[in-house]
Amino acid sequence: MKQYLGIDMGASSFKYGVGSSKGGLLHFGTVRIREKSLEHVKQNILDILEDVKEYPYQGVGLGTPGTIDRKTGKILGVNPNLQFFTDISPAELFPKDFPHTVLYDNDANLMALAESCLEPCRVCYGVTVGSGIGGGLIIEKNIFHGASGFASELGHTIAVLGGEQCNCGLQGCLEAYASVDGIRRQLQKAKSPFAGLDVPGMISRSKSDPLVKRVVADGETYLIRALSNVTTILNPDLIVLGGGAMDLGLYDINKIRKEVFSRISLAHRKDLKIKIARFGNRAGVMGGIILCERA
Ligand SMILES: [Zn+2]
Repeated sequence: MKQYLGIDMGASSFKYGVGSSKGGLLHFGTVRIREKSLEHVKQNILDILEDVKEYPYQGVGLGTPGTIDRKTGKILGVNPNLQFFTDISPAELFPKDFPHTVLYDNDANLMALAESCLEPCRVCYGVTVGSGIGGGLIIEKNIFHGASGFASELGHTIAVLGGEQCNCGLQGCLEAYASVDGIRRQLQKAKSPFAGLDVPGMISRSKSDPLVKRVVADGETYLIRALSNVTTILNPDLIVLGGGAMDLGLYDINKIRKEVFSRISLAHRKDLKIKIARFGNRAGVMGGIILCERA
């Protein structure tokens, strides 16, 4: 069985693993992005390659944040959570003499691809909730990229017209309300002493502090609205929610399921399942491996 190296590039860390979709992961690891610079993330890649050198693999599948121009292969426009990482092909992170092919796609697309392979489904919509909000649409087990590669940017759909400033330059995006960074920025703006909390801290503080409670609840409401609209437009039979904040339970999957179901038509409810990502924080890595297996 061929093995591949899957790498999932997040805003704060790289997750990586060697394995196959059938055999699972032989090895899994994480490296922190301590400094948001191209030099530093190139070093992160070298550290990963060093760590997996004992494992035989035939290629690399990398998930990256940002929108990828399918014509040039480069990240296009503002990459909100890794701003230095734009106008570059993600394959350029690897050394010039690297012997393997490097395939890459948007991180949320790869998470959705991996999850769609675990459940019988025709149309799967995957959502990642973390520093940002990502979306990926899988039709009959294939990633839907749109005309130029920019499909499924759920995080940058409009939640509030003329609303909060988003990292992407637009205003009122879902990400500015429902992502972890969005919640922090709103707490900061309201001069909350809890603006610097990590996700577990946010969850526990939301039980006692009315402002944290409201901002987190608003984020969940905007996400529910977006998922209801996605369902009505795309008629998926599977919606999978993943990403660091969902893994930690920032939002309640049972509540999301119940609320989305109460806001869509009977026809759209009929075949729909809404689930937590089963690969958990390894979904992006597994998606990278599946991308290689398909090539
Ligand atoms: Zn945005």
